[in-house]
Amino acid sequence: MQTFQDLGIKSQLQNALEELGYENPTPIQRASFSPIRGGFDFVGIAQTGTGKTIAYLLPILQDLKYSDQQHPRVLILVPTRELVIQVVSQINKLTPYITLRVAGVYGGSNNMGAQKRAVAEGVDVVVGTPRRLYDLALTNVLRLKSIKKLVIDEVDIMLDFGYKTQLLNIFHHLPAKRQNLLFSATMTPHVDELTGQFLVNPVKETVAISGTPLENISQSCYAVPNFYSKANLLNHLLQDQESFSKVLIFVATKANATRLFEELDFQSETSLIHAGKEQNYRTKSMEDFSSGACRILIATDVIARGVDVDEISTVINFDTPFYPENYLHRIGRTGRAERLGRSILLYTEKEVALKDAIEGLMNYTIPLHAFPEEVKRSHQLTPEEKDKPVETVTQSDNRTAPETGDSFHEKSAKNSREPAQKVSYNQTLKTLYKKPLRRGDKIQNMKKKRKNK
Ligand code: AMP
Repeated sequence: MQTFQDLGIKSQLQNALEELGYENPTPIQRASFSPIRGGFDFVGIAQTGTGKTIAYLLPILQDLKYSDQQHPRVLILVPTRELVIQVVSQINKLTPYITLRVAGVYGGSNNMGAQKRAVAEGVDVVVGTPRRLYDLALTNVLRLKSIKKLVIDEVDIMLDFGYKTQLLNIFHHLPAKRQNLLFSATMTPHVDELTGQFLVNPVKETVAISGTPLENISQSCYAVPNFYSKANLLNHLLQDQESFSKVLIFVATKANATRLFEELDFQSETSLIHAGKEQNYRTKSMEDFSSGACRILIATDVIARGVDVDEISTVINFDTPFYPENYLHRIGRTGRAERLGRSILLYTEKEVALKDAIEGLMNYTIPLHAFPEEVKRSHQLTPEEKDKPVETVTQSDNRTAPETGDSFHEKSAKNSREPAQKVSYNQTLKTLYKKPLRRGDKIQNMKKKRKNK
């Protein structure tokens, strides 16, 4: 096990870490230290609780020399005021033996004047929420042209809540030559797009939620022809109230979340959250699930972050996540604290390649259940499924021949007797969307593909 000492951390930081009682670096701290010090752009896929804040603070503080220049050299953007306060507090805890000036800026109260004064006195590091940061940059009190390192923390939340414009506005005020460090709990198309647009050959590191060994989670999957058949299967499974006592269902889109809610036979026991819902509604949904008033919660990936609920019996992947690491984040919500958790993945023919990528990432074949005979296979399609009929696949595509309805299920079950072919994530993306020239091109290829249909 690599220690902080092995990383070569300077004694002032080492002493602070000791006083904080941190003995060894966490996996994301080990993974990020050298690339960030080496000046590379960096993307860390890591959730709160993995030690990600210190993962970017340590290498930055290690190399930040004393200076009395007025304008900041490091900018850290976070989505909420609470996080600004938390990050500033972490910096203060790490720097009792280092002379460093840090300012936290955020909106919400009448504190713009005080924040302007703090910045005007001269700062090394500014931590802020995008809107307030931009407002300050416009006043010219805060000059961003000397920023050398930009950190964007919780990027997925930022983008999900519509901060993209603010981020782009801030980028205009930053020097083009800078180091970019992005941290996100989940990979999403928006994060991928931002990465492709603004980062140069970034080093990418993903860590699973610590303390969630996959052995604690019994995984299984069902091959299902389409959305409405998935809903029928869920209605069948959820009848077993004892083993499905607290169920978190992940869906990819807001539209599917709402549609699934309408299809479930258990609406009085079901809560729903996605970014399109008002804050009050989301809070109530979470409380109901947490207290047990509702047995089932339907959620999209990013918004489910706020769900800090113990004893989730089952995680259901209603849609197969596009980014395989998101599967690990999702199922990590069950099987906590030594309890055995269960996860179920429902996948259609079009999602086979995504499932393969997940299995490739885990180096594990998810056991397949037969689709229960008593469950009806629907032939009804959602508008999105109608828009995107299952495509014809060539031999080289290496996927099960695409067919709708019953035959697909039978083929998948038969194929499952053979060892699953492991395909790497990159290979899968290459097969699906041609070889991406840059990371951002994946998104462009997806768009082109959609257009061509
Ligand atoms: P974060 O993921 O940054 O929100 O950090 C989660 C918690 O882990 C915070 O309370 C940190 O203070 C703590 N922490 C961070 N790094 C370490 C470490 N190496 N050893 C022990 N605790 C840590």
